[in-house]
Amino acid sequence: MSKDTVATAALATGALALDLPARRRLAEDLLGWGLPRPADDPALVGDLRARLEAGLAEVDGALSEAASAARGGRLLVTKSALERLACDGWQRDPKPYAHSWANARGTLTHLAVEQDWHEARADTPAAVVGRVWQAEASRRPGDPASLSRWLNDLPAADAQCLRDEVTGLLVGFREVWPPLPPGSVQAHVERPVEVRLAGGRVVLRGVPDLVLVSPRRDDRARTLVVDLKTGRPRAQHDRHELRFYALLVALAAGRLPFRWATFYVTEGRAEVESLRAETLLVTVRRVLDGVAQLVRLADAPEEDLRLRGGAWCHYCAREDTCETAAEARRQQALSQPSGMLGP
Ligand code: SF4
Repeated sequence: MSKDTVATAALATGALALDLPARRRLAEDLLGWGLPRPADDPALVGDLRARLEAGLAEVDGALSEAASAARGGRLLVTKSALERLACDGWQRDPKPYAHSWANARGTLTHLAVEQDWHEARADTPAAVVGRVWQAEASRRPGDPASLSRWLNDLPAADAQCLRDEVTGLLVGFREVWPPLPPGSVQAHVERPVEVRLAGGRVVLRGVPDLVLVSPRRDDRARTLVVDLKTGRPRAQHDRHELRFYALLVALAAGRLPFRWATFYVTEGRAEVESLRAETLLVTVRRVLDGVAQLVRLADAPEEDLRLRGGAWCHYCAREDTCETAAEARRQQALSQPSGMLGP
């Protein structure tokens, strides 16, 4: 069995450990145990891909120029690139990634869940988190920009506090998720998915946290895509990311997911969407909009950029000097009800 493959005979045998109410809720609401799956529809997957290819063909010449000028000779479309559709300035000048408590907690929790999944919960959560911490802290300690260095620079009390937080999240995850023992479902954990379009000039790329695939017994869709979140829920943002992953998985596998869900680890709850063609078609449109923006920005002069301020300005390198951002902040302040303007 491959490292990232866990089979779950329990699904077929009904031996799934649903001993806790939270697990029963998750099994029903998210995993959809016992519910009929929608029909798989390879023709719809073909249509999604055809629409993407047709949309890219409309900008064929400009796409070739933009791709050849881009790193690696292709336009890379990720969830982050699509998020930056909000503003051309942000797309052009995103702030470089910076380690923070929240980011480190999210990264370590994802790694701990992944490790724990592969080990089939054979060890205590604290021991799993300890190993994950050790591995990350020793990965690139000499690189001042690395997570290793950031972790190693934490005062001992803070480091212990962060390990405790991550351990608590892993404990919570175990409580809510039923263990999935070997048998009949494959779990792909943090496996990169890539889809090449327009002859490789455009690459869609993402790393879904968890993809559960049941064996095909009939013509029903049997794949579930799950995105794990440890931060504050951002409903629209989280939904967009998840739908992008659902589209990626459909295109890469040639089969539709029957469902996709964001699982909020801190709250132990899931936001679930079941398969709808319209949702995937909207996501295709969003991907095409993202490519169109990248193509446009490849040679757009500064004065032609379409700027739009909002909460995302915080992630843009232009934030401190941007007039559009300042105006957005003024408008936001004016729209706040009296008494809500405190820090
Ligand atoms: S600061 Fe905001 S409005 Fe200005 S370029 Fe960046 S994202 Fe756009």
